[in-house]
Amino acid sequence: MARISAHRIAFQCPECTYQMRQTLGWLEVNHIITCPGCGTTIRLNPDKLVESVEAMEQAFERQPRAIQIEPRMTPVKVR
Ligand SMILES: [Zn+2]
Repeated sequence: MARISAHRIAFQCPECTYQMRQTLGWLEVNHIITCPGCGTTIRLNPDKLVESVEAMEQAFERQPRAIQIEPRMTPVKVR
């Protein structure tokens, strides 16, 4: 979990589309964010946050395999 909590996610202010970045660990303890762009208070839905964290975890689980670089095994045909 520690590595996931340290992962930064980007999200947009619904009012001014100002893009913010926070770590998942920060978002888990701070459910209310004041937008630096327009000052709007954004209340994060904890249920949705948990969902997104879980989705993130799953993405993390999948990621190493997804980005795995396979050695080039293209057979070179030499006749
Ligand atoms: Zn804003």
